[in-house]
Amino acid sequence: MADKYDVIVIGAGPGGMTAALYATRANLNVLVLDRGPYGGQMNNTDAIDNYPGFTEVKGPELSQKMYDTLMKFEPDYKYGNVQSVELDGDEKVIKTDDEEYRAPVLIIATGADHRHLNVPGEEEYSGRGVSYCAVCDAAFFKDEDVVVVGGGDSAIEEGIYLSQMAKSVTVIHRRDQLRAQPTLQKRAFANEKMKFIWNAQTEEILGDGNRVTGVKYLDKENGETKEVSAAGVFIYVGVLPQTEPFKKLGILNEQGWIPTNEHMETKVSGIFALGDVRDKDLRQIANAVGEGSVAGQAAYNYFQDLKN
Ligand code: NAP
Repeated sequence: MADKYDVIVIGAGPGGMTAALYATRANLNVLVLDRGPYGGQMNNTDAIDNYPGFTEVKGPELSQKMYDTLMKFEPDYKYGNVQSVELDGDEKVIKTDDEEYRAPVLIIATGADHRHLNVPGEEEYSGRGVSYCAVCDAAFFKDEDVVVVGGGDSAIEEGIYLSQMAKSVTVIHRRDQLRAQPTLQKRAFANEKMKFIWNAQTEEILGDGNRVTGVKYLDKENGETKEVSAAGVFIYVGVLPQTEPFKKLGILNEQGWIPTNEHMETKVSGIFALGDVRDKDLRQIANAVGEGSVAGQAAYNYFQDLKN
């Protein structure tokens, strides 16, 4: 027998926790499912300086505060690796590895995960010098030279973080301009430990069979292949939507993101989506939280309409 709820929220990042908070506070019976620790990507972020109310806060600390706020309202919170969602009349049937849950309202807040470069050596040396999480792994590279691949907010923010421990941080970017916010760029350019290799296409992660030793890249300005030595390579080349279990619902766009309207409604009635998993330009904690409040309230309205 499946456990029944009014609302099921998949994903306990800042957006999912906020949606669950609003729905529980509106007296709905809410289940939150996540396959990892609450907080999502916030846990992989060292310092957050663009979330109002905190001049600066550590990612795991903000995760804990958001979780504590949510749990004041006592939703059910369970581990669950969601495999599929099916429709059964008005009910959404959510299957995890070993459980089944049902609810008329589903809120998807599964976020996004790091994209891989897909170059030789990347998989081979993953965990042996190749990393996607500076906060998790920076300590292994104390006084070593490291490379960061990418030019967005994540690459630059994490590059700055790495510079606190590493001997040097070389950013390899495929263009001659960073994508990151101007304030991050300013800090990075002023950082004496950070160097930049522009117009460079990363072609291979080099290693000695045991650990990473460097990066081979194509200098696009003159067509030459060059190498830079490094003990660690941190890859931040964008994010991919976490939407595999929702493919059959017909709510994804061609790239796998979920379009919604301003009420966070997807194409399927009773299914809402918010945060990084949505098809949108700006992926921030602040707008995930805002969208979470909208989705939580919209879920309440939908549930009331269904009952009447
Ligand atoms: P992103 O903004 O999509 O940037 C990805 C970077 O990787 C870009 O510079 C891109 O180059 C480069 N890239 C993409 N594919 C590549 C490839 N195959 N080879 C080499 N380089 C490649 O991704 P993100 O930095 O992970 O950020 C994801 C989202 O989270 C964004 O919306 C970002 O604003 C947000 N975020 C915000 C903060 C903050 O507010 N503090 C912190 C982290 C993340 P091009 O520039 O040439 O496209």
